[in-house]
Amino acid sequence: MNIYFLGTGTSQGIPVIGSDHPVCHSQDSKDKRLRVSVLISWGTHSFVIDCGPDFRQQMLTSNCPKIDAIFFTHEHSDHTAGLDDIRPFFFRQGEIPIYAHQRVLLNLEKRFNYIFETENRYPGAPGVFPIEVVNNENIEIEDKQIIPINAWHGNLQVFGYRFENFAYLTDVKTMDAEEILKLKGLDVLVINALRDDPHPTHFNLQEALDFIHLVQPKKTYLTHISHTFGFHEEVQKRLPKNVFLAYDNLQITI
Ligand SMILES: [Zn+2]
Repeated sequence: MNIYFLGTGTSQGIPVIGSDHPVCHSQDSKDKRLRVSVLISWGTHSFVIDCGPDFRQQMLTSNCPKIDAIFFTHEHSDHTAGLDDIRPFFFRQGEIPIYAHQRVLLNLEKRFNYIFETENRYPGAPGVFPIEVVNNENIEIEDKQIIPINAWHGNLQVFGYRFENFAYLTDVKTMDAEEILKLKGLDVLVINALRDDPHPTHFNLQEALDFIHLVQPKKTYLTHISHTFGFHEEVQKRLPKNVFLAYDNLQITI
């Protein structure tokens, strides 16, 4: 399994438009972060988690030729606003399967009504094949099993996903104990850590480290990062062993 970090930034991305913050002016490419997304190449399958406003640029950079499915964590725009840009994949492959909570599918249907239209479709519109994700029900795609992990982004439910011994979770603030049990025995965990200061709906660094302590993965990569966290190089230096700050275009093999 190969994991390609397409984006590792929080909702505004880094640099933030018009910002005077030193991290937004950093020359280090690891301090430039598109909106969070990851590409999972697993056997012959290519899966993407979330489809934010930087999706087109991310697909061009990663050179991704096909997408077998998109998994959505939740409906916020930094995770969904790029849905129209699946068009080149749709033109080549047909309807793209999208997996999400029913609430998220309904939200996408409202915001991208032309994509979900069944009659009098605009010929250039992309098409999707929506599939509802239900907690405690594994997703089966051919010979692959994917386990949804339920978490809370403040009051909003979000899904993370486990693919064998890899799990990807973002926009988490709390998680019920029975869901944490689904994360035992991981080789690699990806979890959000916004910054040092607390935030009402995102883990800060301390909360992410406490969560890592509960889950005990072999390695962890932090994502959904704010410019206020600091320079990549400096933040990495103060992380514990086997905890890494992810960065855009980082690739890992599991
Ligand atoms: Zn987000």
